[in-house]
Amino acid sequence: AAPGRQSYSIALIPGDGIGIEVIHAGQVVLKHLAKAIDTFDLSFEEFDWSSARYKKEGKYLPDDALEQVRRFNAIIFGAVGAPDVPDHISLWGLRLALCQPLQQYANVRPTRILRGTTSPLSNCPRGDLDWVIVRENSEGEYAGHGGTSHIGQEWSVATEVSIFTHHGCERIMRFAFETARSRPAKHLTVVTKSNAQRNGMVFWDNVAASVAKDFPDVKWEKMLVDAMTTRMVLKPKSIDTIVATNLHADILSDLAAALAGSIGIAPTSNLDPTRKNPSMFEPIHGSAFDITGLGVANPVATFWTSAEMLRWLGQPDAADLLMLAVENVTDSGIKTQDLGGNAKTVEVTEAVCAEISKLT
Ligand code: ATP
Ligand code: MG
Repeated sequence: AAPGRQSYSIALIPGDGIGIEVIHAGQVVLKHLAKAIDTFDLSFEEFDWSSARYKKEGKYLPDDALEQVRRFNAIIFGAVGAPDVPDHISLWGLRLALCQPLQQYANVRPTRILRGTTSPLSNCPRGDLDWVIVRENSEGEYAGHGGTSHIGQEWSVATEVSIFTHHGCERIMRFAFETARSRPAKHLTVVTKSNAQRNGMVFWDNVAASVAKDFPDVKWEKMLVDAMTTRMVLKPKSIDTIVATNLHADILSDLAAALAGSIGIAPTSNLDPTRKNPSMFEPIHGSAFDITGLGVANPVATFWTSAEMLRWLGQPDAADLLMLAVENVTDSGIKTQDLGGNAKTVEVTEAVCAEISKLT
């Protein structure tokens, strides 16, 4: 490394299925980018934490997993999930086992229609769909609190208790208002379900109203989650930044990804805004075993999430350059089948590298 040059260490956790394919594609592009612009260095270390490891050793993570990843500046995660492992085992065994202790309480999902791709919405010009979804990522409906009793009996019961702490709601609201403030529209929609859920959701709304007082320059509103789904489809232009609970944002962001063209382009960042822990960047799609091994997985979500990582690490110019290269490639028609093209993962990857070289 040249003296004085920033250097970032990245932990790669490819995981399962196409996660492995897209993470390797992302690594190729990031290495190429760092070399081409020559203002910072990246080093990578790969971890084989996956369902294959779980089936061999009975657990996804080694005991010192957190200590291991805390040494890095950022984590890039692929996907977890295998046809022969129940989804709740794999999700809690790997992804949530990292996100929660690393206090990555803000999950951020930018959504827009990339050049050269189309939305399934007719009459939706590209600029009309430009959103950031902020998802509460540490508690709410996915707090894991609950239990079962009398299993096997006709009177068996299960509870899944949502947890809303003032601490948890306050910090995500503050983050969401700050995100909204950083965007030209300065507009935030707080998604809720406080008509039906009169405890946690009313609490959530009240915290939003109190945090809003510190952001007089941000226009904000409340909207019920059911109404929000139709608004996303019918009036995409009326939305800018969205904040929602763990469950609501999970669902809304899959809808958002589909409306923007494909789940194969959608990125997500699991951020610890205090920066005490490394943040984790991932494509939102899953392991997709139906297309694993065919070489057709769309790597764009991983490229985009890599750009978001560079932005978080303090390299916004590199992030912009990467996204410019990606959009020049999609615009030129080099796209995987989920975007209506016939390019393979490796062809998209090589095209993005070539574009980076052309732009630098
Ligand atoms: P999980 O159970 O982890 O959600 P999954 O196998 O259900 O994983 P999803 O990510 O939910 O996969 O995706 C649903 C379908 O969309 C996949 O089966 C696949 O056909 C398609 N898909 C997802 N990601 C991509 C991608 N990156 N490129 C191309 N197609 C994709
Ligand atoms: Mg799925």
